Amino acid sequence: MPEPTLTQADPEIAALIAKENQREHDSMRLIASENYASRAVMEASGSCLTNKYSEGYARKRYYEGQEIVDQVEELAISRLREAFGRGVDLSAWGGEIHVNVQPYSGSPANLAVYLAFCKPGDTIMGLGLPAGGHLTHGHAVSITGKYFKSVPYGVGKETHRIDLDEVRALAKEHQPKVLWCGTTAYPRTLDFKAFRAIADEVGAILACDIAHISGLVSAGVHPSPIGIADVVTSTTHKTFRGPRGGMIFCKKEHASALDRAVFPGLQGGPHNHTTAGIAVAAKEALAPSFTEYAKAVVANAKVLASELVARDFVVTTGGTDNHLMLLDLTNRGVGGKPVAQALDKAGIVLNYNAVPFDTRKPFDPSGLRLGTPALTSRGMGAAEMKMVAAWIDDVSKNPTDEPKLAKIAGEVKEVCAKFPAPGLLL
Ligand SMILES: *Cc1c(COP(=O)(O)O)cnc(C)c1O
Repeated sequence: MPEPTLTQADPEIAALIAKENQREHDSMRLIASENYASRAVMEASGSCLTNKYSEGYARKRYYEGQEIVDQVEELAISRLREAFGRGVDLSAWGGEIHVNVQPYSGSPANLAVYLAFCKPGDTIMGLGLPAGGHLTHGHAVSITGKYFKSVPYGVGKETHRIDLDEVRALAKEHQPKVLWCGTTAYPRTLDFKAFRAIADEVGAILACDIAHISGLVSAGVHPSPIGIADVVTSTTHKTFRGPRGGMIFCKKEHASALDRAVFPGLQGGPHNHTTAGIAVAAKEALAPSFTEYAKAVVANAKVLASELVARDFVVTTGGTDNHLMLLDLTNRGVGGKPVAQALDKAGIVLNYNAVPFDTRKPFDPSGLRLGTPALTSRGMGAAEMKMVAAWIDDVSKNPTDEPKLAKIAGEVKEVCAKFPAPGLLL
């Protein structure tokens, strides 16, 4: 008897995967943190490498049988070094990028920074969640806000941009051990050099979290913190388009502290199948087509933002420099949640989001967050962005008109059919 396929062994899960596959094919996926990993990435991350235990690092493992896994991890590291070493000045890092590809995801990568540099109760600073920061930068409900004294900074009341004067003043007052620069819902370019100057003024470790923008950074479409920060963390699955994972870049000086924080500090065996997928994604990121993709992500976001502005939407900060934008629906007399739910029925998938200085509650905020990485991976361009803006306008005016939502879902599906999505099993 041959071994059963997934469909034979577990028809329930097989059917659910098939349905998710169809959903990802038939909808316009605008969740800014999502993408389509390629078939090659999927194959590597769904491989027998999941069977292997490899606690430790290449050539320093605690189990035998590592001759292949070591090569996988070393390839991932050398490719990432190349992908993130292009066009950056490494003099402050001693000419070398140390890479750790073992963090299970972006949040564990950030925890490794705390474990490497902080003691419980130390002061840390990051962009507040309501202003576009991440939970792991010291938010109260996160372990990072419970075990450390968190001093969040915000964005300017008028500009909605990071207020560097406020960052400096708070840093001088509170003397943080770690200063985070990184965002999860912020549409503008991050000034890593300005953060470096502030960190230097107060003797803080500068940790830059490029989870959202690492694909853009690697392609040179957003400035890089490599060679500027003390440590750079990232996910691998957002604009970088790899499997779900995490990575850390640092200068040699901090390499052993960070490596020890990841293993044995926080984790056991690395996910070798994920490491292989990251290696494949890094190879893809080194191809000229990835640079074109990264440029198109930003170009599409700019078109989408201006089309929405032309339809009387308030785009926070007036536009975007990166892959995402925030809409403030206050002027339209409707909250983000009902519109996000109606859009989902219409085949346009995004998330409701707080806007800076939101007067509504976090579970029912005023805004929407939209990103272009996934649509761009399907090859969509300006013409499709215009359609998306028109559909969002229509749905936000008629969020309870079920026949209209169903009609739009049909139109969305028709457009999607023309743009094959990478990695799907169709
Ligand atoms: C997504 C994100 C993370 C966390 O990544 P997970 O893989 O979901 O743990 C960390 N930092 C920032 C800025 C993010 O956007």
